Amino acid sequence: MADPRWLDEGLPHLWLPYAQMKSAPAPLPVVRTEGSRIFLADGRSLVDGTASWWTACHGYNHPYIREAVARQLERMPHVMFAGLAHEPAATLAARLAVLLPGDLDHVFFSDSGSVAVEIALKMAVQFWLNRGETRTKFLAFRGGYHGDTLGAMTVSDPEGGMHHRLAPVLPHHIIADLPRDESSVAAFERLMEREASSLAAIIVEPLVQGAGGMIFHEPEVLRSLRDAADRHDVLLIADEIFTGFGRTGTMFACNAAGIAPDIVTLSKALTGGTLALAATVANRRVFDGFRSDDAEAALMHGPTFMANPLACAAANASLDLFDNEPRLAQVAAIEAILKRDLAPCRALNGVADVRVKGAIGVVELDNIADIAALRRRFVDAGVWIRPFGNTIYLTPPFTIAEDELAMLTGAIRRVLS
Ligand SMILES: *Cc1c(COP(=O)(O)O)cnc(C)c1O
Repeated sequence: MADPRWLDEGLPHLWLPYAQMKSAPAPLPVVRTEGSRIFLADGRSLVDGTASWWTACHGYNHPYIREAVARQLERMPHVMFAGLAHEPAATLAARLAVLLPGDLDHVFFSDSGSVAVEIALKMAVQFWLNRGETRTKFLAFRGGYHGDTLGAMTVSDPEGGMHHRLAPVLPHHIIADLPRDESSVAAFERLMEREASSLAAIIVEPLVQGAGGMIFHEPEVLRSLRDAADRHDVLLIADEIFTGFGRTGTMFACNAAGIAPDIVTLSKALTGGTLALAATVANRRVFDGFRSDDAEAALMHGPTFMANPLACAAANASLDLFDNEPRLAQVAAIEAILKRDLAPCRALNGVADVRVKGAIGVVELDNIADIAALRRRFVDAGVWIRPFGNTIYLTPPFTIAEDELAMLTGAIRRVLS
């Protein structure tokens, strides 16, 4: 069937994400979504194994979120957030403060994950400046990914990551191995001894490094980072943009380690995949570092669309669903099924590793020679699974039906065999 006219006419004017525009296959025309399904213009539907970049944790078009957004749309789609406040943002901030561990009580809203990371980095640097200390460096980890904006790129993996071409022109920070075994723990400790006084913060994706390859680590690693940050008086930033809101099995990945960072970043599933919204949440110590009689000590930041009321209404509705529906139990059930149904992949040729944590299932291959062809085969199998690097992963909506989840795991097994 021919592509719809809107695609033929508009595509020449679209610059697509992470795509070589000379050779990128045309994107699939989507006409609607529902539950765990993406409906294409030609009438086919795909079972979504990605939850749209990990956002749609309640599935698409959840009626409860739709109604909340529709009600807010009638009253006030947007209003500026300087000098004015509104109920959806105030309620959301108070709820996030209760949900997050420790005294992460001070919520700064923005509109995308990368911007939330930029704000976290800026907060950390200025926190020390406000105390008269110039600390210019961050410590980040190999395999990490924190976004696509300039600051976020500087703390993402400069070699293995997708931004390596830009590494030569970016400011350099310290990229270390996660302290996960004897030698990396020792190296990390030496690094901290040497660099702590120049470090504004350590930044880490807790439990799962997502876009860097879906690499897992144990809660123990997070506890040791918290401990090192305390001993050396460096701030700890947890980037929970991927892991937040249940994805790894607990509401936040930091919960599994029983730690609270000084600053946390949230986005992706914050609105249940409905609208763009992000938050950078600081603990009392960081927040108090900006309270001063000196006007210059203030955080000079204010995205135009910060705390957008529609997005905040969607986020509040999403939190209601976490309260009223058994999301974390669903994640535990998905984890058990993924473990069982992806395990047979271990025996297949070319499979390097199979791992599962929460509602994240990963089949890592030795090598993916033709990623476009592999992606096409998944679409032909009726599923939306989008491998990157050497990694095939599933991060389905938590509400996915068992037969739909079986379609996803079955497609991986079949396409790989
Ligand atoms: C996706 C992601 C980001 C960037 O978020 P955007 O909304 O795409 O800017 C940052 N950190 C992590 C851990 C992410 O997964």
